[in-house]
Amino acid sequence: MEDKVLRKLFLGFIQIHILHHAKEEPIYGTWMLEELREHGYSISSGTLYPILHSMDTDGLLTKEEKNVDGKIRKYYTTTYKGNKVLSEAREKAYELFKEIKD
Ligand SMILES: [Zn+2]
Repeated sequence: MEDKVLRKLFLGFIQIHILHHAKEEPIYGTWMLEELREHGYSISSGTLYPILHSMDTDGLLTKEEKNVDGKIRKYYTTTYKGNKVLSEAREKAYELFKEIKD
């Protein structure tokens, strides 16, 4: 994420990606980090965790804490509002993709 414009774009992509997976099943930070890395994003927990937190604050995700082997893990699920944002983003992304793909 060397360029400023790319960095901004990628932050948007990452949020859409999060909404997509957290809609299918609850996700947690380290799982999402691994998922993003597989998709070619080199992102640190210091970048991802504040994103998850602000999406929770904005009402796009809900958080549930679960005890996993004696450690508290925060699971995030996409809310109704998050789902609406995802649908609209998906539509716009698809429209743009059709236009720029070639
Ligand atoms: Zn994915």
